[in-house]
Amino acid sequence: MISMELKTNDRVELIDITDVVQEAVKNSAVENGICVISTRHTTTSIIVNENESGLRSDILSLLERFIPADADYSHDRIDNNADAHLKAVLLGSSQSIPILCGRLLLGTWQSVFFAEFDGPRNRSIEIMVLSQR
Ligand code: ZN
Repeated sequence: MISMELKTNDRVELIDITDVVQEAVKNSAVENGICVISTRHTTTSIIVNENESGLRSDILSLLERFIPADADYSHDRIDNNADAHLKAVLLGSSQSIPILCGRLLLGTWQSVFFAEFDGPRNRSIEIMVLSQR
């Protein structure tokens, strides 16, 4: 298990972590298996999709339309970040990606993102690489 520190820059942001995950897979020397990328924070997510600036913006806009920051949430009475928790609930806290021939089995247009919904903060990402046998 590898724990990686990450500093986010904005309240809401998508950070491409494909290269660091790929590096973790390479360092593990696992040829075939699975890589689990997870976050232990309740206001962040791990997602897989295309790293295109318009699409990154569209994803965040969609979440903002579904879950506006300024709606009347019960959790805001104690913490004022309910929208961040709800966005994290929608997108999930981990992704599992197959490893083939020592590399993440991702499509040409797929990237792994760390999604921040209540930054900027110091965050960590957990990466576990498991061998098929
Ligand atoms: Zn909270």
